[in-house]
Amino acid sequence: MSLLTHPETSPSTSPGSTSFRVPGPFDPSHGHEQVVYCYDAASGLNAIIAIHSTALGPALGGTRFYPYPTEDDALADVLRLSRGMTYKNALAGLDHGGGKAVLIGDPARDKSEALLRAYGRFVESLGGRYVTACDVGTYVADMDVIHRETSHVVGRSDVHGGSGDSSVLTAFGVLTAMRACAAHVWGSDTLRGRTVGVAGVGKVGRLLVGHLLEAGADVVVTDVSPTAIDRVRAQHPEVRVVDGADALVRSAIDIYAPCALGGALDRSTVEAMRATVVCGSANNQLADDGEGGLAERLLERGITYAPDYLVNAGGVIQVSDEEEGFVLERARHRAEGLFDTTLAVLRRAAEQGISPARAASHLAEERITAVGSPRLYLR
Ligand code: NAD
Repeated sequence: MSLLTHPETSPSTSPGSTSFRVPGPFDPSHGHEQVVYCYDAASGLNAIIAIHSTALGPALGGTRFYPYPTEDDALADVLRLSRGMTYKNALAGLDHGGGKAVLIGDPARDKSEALLRAYGRFVESLGGRYVTACDVGTYVADMDVIHRETSHVVGRSDVHGGSGDSSVLTAFGVLTAMRACAAHVWGSDTLRGRTVGVAGVGKVGRLLVGHLLEAGADVVVTDVSPTAIDRVRAQHPEVRVVDGADALVRSAIDIYAPCALGGALDRSTVEAMRATVVCGSANNQLADDGEGGLAERLLERGITYAPDYLVNAGGVIQVSDEEEGFVLERARHRAEGLFDTTLAVLRRAAEQGISPARAASHLAEERITAVGSPRLYLR
């Protein structure tokens, strides 16, 4: 992403500076509302917070701790990710806009209480326009530390008023969306008798396997980690195991659930795919970011692809519930809403002959335009 297309984000060199512009009515081609550079020499904090939109409410999105090669790489990532959160939160029906933060550094080497607390003070300085949470390289325990400096953080542990591990409702949300896919494709939302391939049985994948077995599905799994496979086999001896995601994609499955890393669907995977439905938790499943025609190729091949950021929204639904004082049943009820939203996306895609990815974007933009209005001052 070129900086030139985002004039409002031109970075300043002064520490802790903010570039800010008054947002207009929501227009997806607009850039970000606010980008904040955060430096703290004492702790080594070097972070960027990007608020893409507050049209539906405070911008919500996780904090990624990653060793970006350059500050420009970090900026490109945070701009892309924060925009994605606007769409994700809108589709999930939350009263939240989209934001994201990146901490530049190696979390294994650079993470410290001082750094996280310095970062928490920057989040606090935004007065609630940005609410943070976990992402790659940050964990529930880190959110508890950040919480010592700001109330605008979710994804905390239960002893600190949080909801704990967000994989719980992420997995439930994927199951819910999968049932909607089944209803759309096969006319019934039951998964009984369907064969589901789960690639990646970490936190989300393993919980999903349990849900699927309970729903009467046959489950085939793969994972690069023998430990992850052993754990799932110990808990669910009935699952079958295949060696590698490529083998899983080429096997006779009805539903493919990518639950590992991004980029699970590339040109060769899409051509080899035998499943009728793709529905899994992994972020950024399309290797071309949805812009190189993979979503359209899936459509041509008659494969129903449920957009990743829609079906994995159970996690953000779970953590955002913390703002009201976490109640699992209420959050779970909200996550059940992913059934209707997934069905609406798939139906619109079918009616208009467009990919579900495109239909999902349209629905998100419609909701933002219908009920949203940018807010400069919150709470
Ligand atoms: P995790 O790290 O606990 O599990 C990922 C698993 O995938 C690991 O067991 C790993 O060994 C395996 N894996 C890695 N590369 C693989 C490959 N090439 N083939 C097969 N397996 C492979 O992560 P998680 O929390 O379960 O998240 C899984 C995915 O879902 C990620 O993409 C994450 O961004 C996304 N997601 C997670 C949540 C959440 O609440 N945890 C929410 C939204 C999205």
